[in-house]
Amino acid sequence: MAAIIPDNPSSSQHAARPRRDADFVELTTSTVEAQIDAADPDDPVARQFRLDPRESLDVPGFNADPVGDLAANAVPGVLHKYRGRALLVLTGACAVHCRYCFRRHFPYGDQRLDEDALERALDYLAADPEMTEVILSGGDPLVLAPRRLAAVIERLAALPQLRRLRIHSRIPTVSPERIDESLCQRLASFPGQVVLVAHVNHPRELGPQSAAAFGRLREAGVTLLNQAVLLEGVNNDTDVLAELSEALFAQGVLPYYLHQLDPVAGAAHFAVDAAVGRERIEALRARLPGYLVPRFVVEQAGEPSKTPIA
Ligand SMILES: *Cc1c(COP(=O)(O)O)cnc(C)c1O
Ligand code: SF4
Repeated sequence: MAAIIPDNPSSSQHAARPRRDADFVELTTSTVEAQIDAADPDDPVARQFRLDPRESLDVPGFNADPVGDLAANAVPGVLHKYRGRALLVLTGACAVHCRYCFRRHFPYGDQRLDEDALERALDYLAADPEMTEVILSGGDPLVLAPRRLAAVIERLAALPQLRRLRIHSRIPTVSPERIDESLCQRLASFPGQVVLVAHVNHPRELGPQSAAAFGRLREAGVTLLNQAVLLEGVNNDTDVLAELSEALFAQGVLPYYLHQLDPVAGAAHFAVDAAVGRERIEALRARLPGYLVPRFVVEQAGEPSKTPIA
């Protein structure tokens, strides 16, 4: 997840000129820093957020727009690939910069969707009678000013066909204090169901603060799911993945997806072979209840959904 939609998404200029690390500086939070063991050169949290010299390598097959997002950009701010649901991208900003992020080269930097563009995005969503779920994504929608977020949610609540509001966010674990009472009240007042999909790759990212944040969300009636990315040097290990599922569920979060890494330029050193990923999932299936085994998927441009691998 990472960003806002370019005004002219079809401009091949954007795709052809990936903006390398200049606009993707190292960014973490105090919570993340506290999770890192500085004495461990292979720390699995540090690996996700610290700059790595291997990012500048040009590796064949790893490019700036690996999942065809530029082509799926229906109107500025909306990514509509799948039937019945679409991403509404309100901001390109995140609280952290995950080094493997598949939108790290997106040409929208930290832009925010302005009022006019938001109007057009909402009109687009409103015009599709099948649009039963809107997914606030980014960037990270929970870095928005609370008042701005509240205004958007209020306007979404007015779409009659909308059954669910979904939020994709890393905030519950990287900046859990932002999951405060007023945000939870706002979510609780949404007329449909609310789903939050967290993004946690290693059990070390979970602790008492994330437990409290997830607890507040659950009390507000929010259904909690997690998506992780299979990453070399982070979680490409059956024990770690099993512990991740257990630790998530202990905090009331169900594993949803385990994503195969999108081949984005600069992230090749995180790549895990799909066959290895399949073995990891089979090993998880042999030792965990079915509901703790995430769906192992890859995103393929032009497909009607994420593609299951295992
Ligand atoms: C991943 C994604 C979704 C959500 O897919 P689900 O399978 O419903 O989780 C929706 N829209 C876009 C553009 C996506 O990339
Ligand atoms: S939280 Fe990380 S993976 Fe998600 S959009 Fe931001 S940088 Fe990308």
